[in-house]
Amino acid sequence: ARIEASNPQLNAFITVTGDSARQAAAAADKLLSSECGERKFGPLNGIPLALKDIFVTEGVRTTCASKILDNFIPPYDGTAVRKLKEQGAVILGKLNMDEFAMGSSNETSAFGPVRNPWNLDCVAGGSSGGSAASVAALQTVAALGTDTGGSIRQPASHCGVVGLKPTYGRVSRYGVIAYASSLDQVGPVTRDVEDCAILLGAVAGHDRADSTSVNRAVPDYRKNLRQGIKGMKIGLPKEYFIDGLDPEVRQATDEAIRVCREMGAEFVEVSLPHTAYAVACYYLVATAEASSNLSRYDGVRFGLRVDEGQGLIDMYMKSRAAGFGDEVKRRIMLGTYALSSGYYDAYYLKAQKVRTLIRQDFLDAFNQVDVLLTPVAPTPAFKIGEKTADPLQMYLSDIFTIPVNLAGTCALSLPCGLSSAGLPIGLQLIGRPFGEETILQAAY
Ligand code: GLN
Repeated sequence: ARIEASNPQLNAFITVTGDSARQAAAAADKLLSSECGERKFGPLNGIPLALKDIFVTEGVRTTCASKILDNFIPPYDGTAVRKLKEQGAVILGKLNMDEFAMGSSNETSAFGPVRNPWNLDCVAGGSSGGSAASVAALQTVAALGTDTGGSIRQPASHCGVVGLKPTYGRVSRYGVIAYASSLDQVGPVTRDVEDCAILLGAVAGHDRADSTSVNRAVPDYRKNLRQGIKGMKIGLPKEYFIDGLDPEVRQATDEAIRVCREMGAEFVEVSLPHTAYAVACYYLVATAEASSNLSRYDGVRFGLRVDEGQGLIDMYMKSRAAGFGDEVKRRIMLGTYALSSGYYDAYYLKAQKVRTLIRQDFLDAFNQVDVLLTPVAPTPAFKIGEKTADPLQMYLSDIFTIPVNLAGTCALSLPCGLSSAGLPIGLQLIGRPFGEETILQAAY
């Protein structure tokens, strides 16, 4: 009922799976009321959840918010989705996003923008805009998103909810449509930190079907939540507190620092000297990998085919021209260029070297501190249409989230205030690789 009432304004869901959700809910209910309890009831039994439309779902249309996958019905569930179902979760449907997760405002979706529940004229953020907006608007208890360069944390920040990008390798990406494979990670979007810990624990772990998932025990992420932050060393990277930062974001961050200090945390200024190169480096690595990943959409194997030309090449070109939106085409062109012979050394290889330096910055910082604290985005949610004409402006809105993906480590976004216009402001806590427990503890 809640989805039906609010989705026409918010546009957060692309597909609602009402019938199967009711069946799953009835099954969960039966399990809860049965006394014999042969199966242990986990905390997810009967809990309504929703999925970014980048997760392939058996028998349920999966579009990645692209026209090219408009009619794609996958034959299997990805690992994260399978795990949720096995734990009794009730899947409500598939959530809107930027096309192929390329964007920072959910405006590149072939299904139209998601609106921010706090102000319908503003963006929800992206690319997991549907995930953040649906949780904020109480359409679902929680959602899964993906984060390649900020796509969980930035929309969570703009919508006033909690979002976590786990360490690269923490969660299997089997059955998650690939954007930039060396950066993509799956993570939870929730109303509070405890839900975030539960949902992360439910999907984390090694998976034989994803060779990049790491074989490492999954801790009980709820265990340390109430330990407080007394004596915790928190780093403030000086490169993140810059002139372009909105004064209200700055103020909310300073207030959060004051509260943490009062609770016994110790603050240290640190430096991440290669921060200035992160956005440029990211847009070479991400577009290069995207151009390769998206070559599979050829009109033959999946989705849309425009078959009125002369021969195979013509069919490829017409299908891709009709199926991909402008931003996706821009990325494919940039990435193909960066990988071309003669340019590879100057661009892609150089970007990989810079990436190593950025990662080293973080590892050095974590020799001094337990956690880093920064803003999530330089401004609160902007107006729909405000940045669509200027891709560079749009890319710069991920300046504080992108370095974390390049470094492969974990970070979360949690609400820390409201702007004078009544829009949420988020705070980012960055942890060392596989330090999810520590950032969840600090956030709680
Ligand atoms: N906004 C960034 C991009 O467009 C990040 C997107 C993401 O994390 N999926 O690439």
